[in-house]
Order: sequence, then C-alpha cells, then structure tokens
Amino acid sequence: MNLKQYEIEIRGLVQGVGFRPYVYKLANEMNLKGYVNNDSRGVNVFLEASVSDKDQFVKRLYAEKPDVAEIAAINVQESEMNLSTETFYIAPSKELQADVTRVSPDIAVCEKCMHDFQHQEHRVSYPFINCTHCGPRFTIIKSIPYDRPSTTMNEFKMCEICESEYTDPSDRRFHAQPVACNHCGPSYKAIWQGKEIRNYIEIVTIAREMLRKGAIVALKGTGGFNLLCDAQNEASVQKLRELKHRYVKPFAVMYESVRKVKENQVLDSKEETVLTSWRRPIVVLKEKRKLSESINGKLNTIGVMLPYLPIHYDLFRYGGPECLVVTSANRPGEPMLVSNTQARNYLDPLIDLYIEHNRDIHNRVDDSVVRIINEESQLLRRARGYTPEPYDLTTSVEGGLAFGAEITGMFAIGKEHQIILSQYIGDLTHMESVTAYKETMERLIALFRFKPEYMITDKHPQYESTRMGNEMAEKMNLPVYRVQHHHAHAVSAMVEFQLNEACLAITWDGTGFGDDGRIWGGELLRCDRTHYERVGHLPYVPMPGGDKAAKEPWRMALSYVVSLLGKDYDLPCAFVERIGKEKIGTMKRIMESGINQTETSSAGRLFDAVSSLLGLCDINTFQAEAAMKLEHTGSIDDALEAYQINDSNPWDLVPVLDGILSDINKNTATSCIAKRFHLTCAEMIAAALIKESSESGIRNVILTGGVFQNKLLTEILISRLQKEDLNVYYQTKIPCNDGGIPVGQLAAIAAYREKNKSNTQKICMNYQLQ
Ligand code: ZN
Ligand code: ZN
Ligand code: FE
Repeated sequence: MNLKQYEIEIRGLVQGVGFRPYVYKLANEMNLKGYVNNDSRGVNVFLEASVSDKDQFVKRLYAEKPDVAEIAAINVQESEMNLSTETFYIAPSKELQADVTRVSPDIAVCEKCMHDFQHQEHRVSYPFINCTHCGPRFTIIKSIPYDRPSTTMNEFKMCEICESEYTDPSDRRFHAQPVACNHCGPSYKAIWQGKEIRNYIEIVTIAREMLRKGAIVALKGTGGFNLLCDAQNEASVQKLRELKHRYVKPFAVMYESVRKVKENQVLDSKEETVLTSWRRPIVVLKEKRKLSESINGKLNTIGVMLPYLPIHYDLFRYGGPECLVVTSANRPGEPMLVSNTQARNYLDPLIDLYIEHNRDIHNRVDDSVVRIINEESQLLRRARGYTPEPYDLTTSVEGGLAFGAEITGMFAIGKEHQIILSQYIGDLTHMESVTAYKETMERLIALFRFKPEYMITDKHPQYESTRMGNEMAEKMNLPVYRVQHHHAHAVSAMVEFQLNEACLAITWDGTGFGDDGRIWGGELLRCDRTHYERVGHLPYVPMPGGDKAAKEPWRMALSYVVSLLGKDYDLPCAFVERIGKEKIGTMKRIMESGINQTETSSAGRLFDAVSSLLGLCDINTFQAEAAMKLEHTGSIDDALEAYQINDSNPWDLVPVLDGILSDINKNTATSCIAKRFHLTCAEMIAAALIKESSESGIRNVILTGGVFQNKLLTEILISRLQKEDLNVYYQTKIPCNDGGIPVGQLAAIAAYREKNKSNTQKICMNYQLQ
C-alpha cells in the first residue's frame, strides 16, 4: 500500500471538548499512525495513511465528532515531514504567538458523569466530576492553549488514579483538563450556624433541609455565587427579594427534570431542545400554573432552567424542594460575586447557609437567557454556555475593540475574521459594573492575546462605555470611531446572516443617540454595513424630565397624548386618578416650558406610554417592565383588528392613540386594546417596509432592537411579512437587544476601514471622531 504523510488542521470549537482523545481513538480504530496536538489555533493531526484511508478519516472526523465540538474547517495538506512512528499518539501542545482558537464555553455535567457520580468508586458523590465532554471551561481558563496549567485547576495536583485516567487513551477522561476525584480535586465547604462543614453529603443534606424550611442558601456555582430558595415558599422568595433589593423583577427557577418542567409549565419541543442542551440556559416559558406571584408577578412567562452541576441534582433528591429560585448573588447593583472572601464577608451574615468551593472562578459568567420566538431560539442574554464562542466574518476585524452601549454592558474584540463578544457584564450606570467591565476586558484581552489597533464606541457622548473607549484610545494613541446605535443594531444582524448588500432595517428599541442629537429608537433604516439613511421613524415627542421619562411610563403617556392630540384632550379617568390632577398639571406646565426634555422617536417609550394609559405600569422598576406587561396583556386576547394606519413618515400615531383612548372610554377590555396595539405596530411596520422595498428594490429586511424581544409583536409581524416578497431576518445568535451592539460596531468599522484602506485620510462623517 502506498502511504503518504498528511498535515491536517482542524479549526473551530475543538479545544476543551475532548477533541484530541476523539481523534486519537478514531486513528487507532483505523490503524493509522501519526499524532495529534493542540496549538493556539486549533487541533493539528499528522497522519501517515493511504489516500483512501485519509479521505475516510476526514469524513469520519466530521461525522462522528463530539456533540459540543464545532468544526469550522479542516485543511489537509500533503507533508514532506518524515515521521517515523509505529503508533498514533497525543503530542504536547504547541504555542503559537498571536493566533487564537475557540475556547469552549462551560458545559453542563453530562449523563455519563452523573452515572459515575453514583457508581465510580473514587468519584461517588464527588461534586466536581467532569470528563472530556463536560465541565467548566471558560470560567477557569486564564490563557490559551487550553491545558491544565493555564486553568485555575493548576492548584490541584492529580492523584495517581486521576493521572492514569488522564493519560489513558481509552478512558473517558483522557486529557480532560479539569479531571479530579474525591482524593485530589476541589471540594465544597459550608458555613452553617457558625460551624464549618466539609463533608459533601452532610452539606447537601443540611442544604435540602434548610431549603425545605424556607432558608436562603448561597452556593458557589460555575461562573459565580448564586442564591437559592424554595420557589414554592412565598415567605422565602420575599426574603430573598429583600436581601437582593430586587422587589419586582422576575426570578428564574430550576426544576429537577424535564418531566417536572412539563408538569408545571408549557414546554414545546423546540424549547425542550434548548432547555436540555449542554449549554443549559434559562429558557423563557409560558406559564401553565402560577408558581407564586412573588416570582414573576402577574406575568404569564417564567424563566426556567435545569440543573447543570451535580450539586444541583442533589438538592432535589430525597424530598428536597420541587422547584428552586436560582439567582445571582451580588450586592445590590453590583456584578455577581466570585471571590470566596468577598462572598463570605457579605453573604454569611445575611443568609442561613453558605456554601463555597476552593476552585477559583477566573471569568465571571452569569446565566444565559433564551426565548423561543417564531420557532427560533433568540439569545436574550449571552453568558454561561455561550461565551466566548466567536462569530465568523468574511472580512478581517483584527485589532478592533468595540465598547458597546450602556445598560447592557458588553464589549467585543476582533481577531482575524472572528468577533469575540464578551459575556453580559452588567449595567454600566453602576460604578461596580464599570469595574467589572474593565476587569473582564483586561482578562479577555490577555486570554486571546489581543492587540488593539482601533476603538469603536457608541455616538452617545455620555455613555460610560464611550468615555472608557476615548480614554483608552488616548492612552494608547489609537484612533476611535463612533457608530450610530441603530446602525450598529442593523449591522449586528448583517453579521449573523452574512449580509453584505443593502438592507431595510427596522430598529425599534429603547434608547439610541441620534444624528440630530435627539433620542432615536423607532427607525426604519436603509443601510449596508458602512452607510445608513433614516428613511422612516416614529414621531418625536418630548421626554418630560429627561431620563426620568424612561423610568416613569406615565410621563410618556402624558407626553404622547399632549403632543399628538393636544393638551386639552381628555385623559382616561383611571389614569388621572392614579397619577393625580396636580402632578399632571405640573408636568403639562413643564412640557410647555420645554425645559429639561429631549425629544424621542423611541418605540420603547411608545410601548411604555400605552402600558401606562392602560393602567398596567406607571413606573418601571426594572428595564422594560411596562412593555413586558403590555405584551403579556395583549397575548391573552385574540382580537384581530388593528387601529387605523396611515401611509406617512413619520409614522402617524394620531389615529392609534385616538383609537386606544376611545376604546378605554368605551370600557373595552384592556387585553383587547393591548392586542390591537400590537397588531397596529405590526401593520405600520409592514406597510412602511413594503413601500420602501418597492421604491428601492431592496428585499432584505432586518428586525432588530430590544422591542423584538416581544414575542407577540415579532410573531405577528413575521407572519404578516411572510405574505410579501421579502427576505425577513430576525436575530437568534446575536442578541437583538443592546447585547449585540458591540458586534455591529466592530463589523461596521471593519467594513469601513476595508473600504477606505487606500485613503486613510478620508473622513466619513458617520464614523470618524472629530
Ligand atoms: Zn462528563
Ligand atoms: Zn484524583
Ligand atoms: Fe439599542
């Protein structure tokens, strides 16, 4: 047989997911010689084989890959290298300076490990059990390539048994970097009634008992500390709310199994797939029966997840609670606690049982949140199980550092043709989130060996992220670009769907700094990656009291009625009763004076206004509360009739508002009005898109911005647009809320720089700073 030598490069999510052992097994099964190793770009195989064996090998590489692995490319080259080996082996990792590979996100404990958890002698009840296909990854990694010494597992020396598994190619834990057992690995420690407890069985037994009695338990998890309590115990949930200073915002809950979820909530097959995937995000489900009002108020949706750590499973066993509230543990307004010292000092005095472990969390990661909209899973919060998977581009984004927006603090770095989006960090209007943001940025820059060449910020001059971008650019003497907020939203969708041509983008969201200095957020853009034209928008109305108007929907309700229908128009009696004549009078005078009120075309504010007029929410206690309540109310009615719409730009809201108010006067059911409002928005958007498309010939339509987290609106709109000759793109992998902004910023500027390569002096008003 004529043997040849091949070098095979495998790129993609291939590190930290058991890929080398997989290759090793495959090669041995096929009786091939050579070796496999990691470098910082991915996995390399050196193979001695016949042409047909090589082809077969590559085919099987794709076909039989581990579940979690994602192969982006396999490049095969014939090699001159003369290797004399009689075996196939795993060679040590090679360092490559600047390149980057995909670091795996954290993976929920797998079924086989949960089996070993009960049967494998040295791992019976060992809560840090993992294998090449599961366990912590991103949260413990400090540098690449992914090998034990570059993780926080470096502290733990493998015992002889673990080491033999680690080096045994036939073992499930062969080269599993966090491998550990009862003899050698990390362990939990609890503090209960002033005593330290180190025995795991004792810890979970006490935890179950305490939870059943209504206690709050702090538990160090994958990406930080969580607080847990019995979800069916009203008093405990209230206690937890007080502890967190989080009085209304819904909590997510954890059930032991899919069966339990199905018994209690509505779960379709698509939702089940996401819920049970190795990523284990929180999935927003429709409620079947109310668990407790203190969990999600009157909303009919609830965030649900399944256990992803062995200890989670143990909390449900032997008569433990049926359902747990699981929320991040943090001081109010701060990011999730990760350090033992900080957590112990803060939490121990406040709670009933405190559980930590001695493996450091290097990268803090919250739970991710997913919602199924129109049969697709929309990623609403990108964190555990998703970060740091990159997004692929066809052009280079090397050196770009994008600072994102504000309330959803996130950033992105550009490596070659990939954008690495950070995990969700927190609200940058809080100083502590800013600190966490900076720390996360330093860590990801180090991890991915990133060298910034240019910075990109939002156009909003007052965003903390803008300030940080400017500061860093100045310090490093690098250029800084600005991208308009809604253009960034649109481009983030173009990245997801690899659109390079012109698009029509509906960008409906809360707040974005417009080119005219006013607050945008209800736009129709005609755009490509480097240019945009605002061809439609919602009418401008004042925001009385400035930023306060975004927190207090009643102000927007008043503003809409006064600006569109006149100051003498009759407000709904119930509204006047709730807010008070005096307050309304004062606000009207403020509006007349024009003091302290920017104008806005934001769709988020429109939803706020309608929510308040209907008496659903006058003051937002958390972001988008009023809009969520409006969606909820609309989704329980099957009304089919929209209010009147007119063909105009700005969109004409007069008949809509007039219709809503006269419906309120006629005592029409609130749910019916809410539904009709959603239908009207969909009709308005559809009409504008159809008109613009026929005039411009552009068929690609993007729906983006935080408003499209609204399942009711999005599904009505998509089904409406399906009747038209349009290609409708709705984001699934890149958040349509401000979490996607850094991706759009980076891709827009990379495209702009590519275009203007030959003329770096040329200044494009849209992008270049001063
Ligand atoms: Zn496993
Ligand atoms: Zn061991
Ligand atoms: Fe936005």
